[in-house]
Amino acid sequence: MLVNLSDVLGHAYRYGYAVGAFNVINLEFLNGILEAAERQRSPVVVQIAEVHFKYMDIEEITPTIKHMADRASVPVVISLDHGESVGTIVRAIRCGFTAVMFDGSKLPFEENVEQTKLVVQIAHSVGVSVEAELGRVGGSEGTEGGVAREEFFTDPDQAGEFVRMTGLDALAVAIGNVHGFYKGEPKLDFERLRAIRDSAGVPLVLHGGSGIPDDDFRKAIQLGIAKINYFTEMSRKAVQRVREVLGRDSRIVGLQDLMLEAKEAIRKEVEDRIQVFGSAGICDRRSDLCAVCRGCEIGRSSETPPLEEDQLVERVTEAVMRILWEKGGAYGTGSE
Ligand SMILES: [Zn+2]
Repeated sequence: MLVNLSDVLGHAYRYGYAVGAFNVINLEFLNGILEAAERQRSPVVVQIAEVHFKYMDIEEITPTIKHMADRASVPVVISLDHGESVGTIVRAIRCGFTAVMFDGSKLPFEENVEQTKLVVQIAHSVGVSVEAELGRVGGSEGTEGGVAREEFFTDPDQAGEFVRMTGLDALAVAIGNVHGFYKGEPKLDFERLRAIRDSAGVPLVLHGGSGIPDDDFRKAIQLGIAKINYFTEMSRKAVQRVREVLGRDSRIVGLQDLMLEAKEAIRKEVEDRIQVFGSAGICDRRSDLCAVCRGCEIGRSSETPPLEEDQLVERVTEAVMRILWEKGGAYGTGSE
């Protein structure tokens, strides 16, 4: 079921787990991620980064994501990742995203506050949640080698001020994490994270999840991380799988088979992350999350919900096809 980010993160923050946020580039990613979440009975964030807009048209793909999210048996958030301007934020909200991340981290503090505040006012007026970033997470998604620079780490005192001045719902932090693959071992500054949590008092977001050891994820979650952005490694796993398949059988010429393999690799990696992030099985326990989701009741409800336009068209088409089939003699094209 399509839900709001703050509902899901509030629950994660209270109960000490994190929700995985996985980037979508096309339908293979979307199918792999949603299948994984349903199999693991876990809430999930499906997100599209502005830097990935070149791979798909958000006006075209979002109705499909919404359609699938609505029918999912687990809570699904559709979020904009690293929105760089108010224009993009408004565009995503109009498409039906239930969360937006505004990234003003390259701006001077006062300007970041001003613009984030504006985004919060716009988004909250229609019930959309807002994530914003303070400090700067370096590197870029899906690329080689980022290095975390301490001068860009989030300042704990400033974090509290930023949250209070903007009214945001979730704060993305820079504590040694970078986008893309890490050069060398990632070293997260847990003391800083603890101080940020105490000062900010809202769910925190860890970007650049690829390459962080599982134990570091668990520790970060204990210290207030409630959403983890994960893309690069998931994408690499899909490439790795396609390479293996081609290596086994170089005669493969059909792209459709490779795309299925890629989707399976994505599903497997997302399932694995969901287990590490501690959100596996959350939907099997009755909780206050059910009040906003009820996805698990899909298909089980005794009352018949009103038909949506697309269902209506589907039913009518089915009925017409059945009638034509039954009256095959009169209406069929036959063989003559
Ligand atoms: Zn990011």
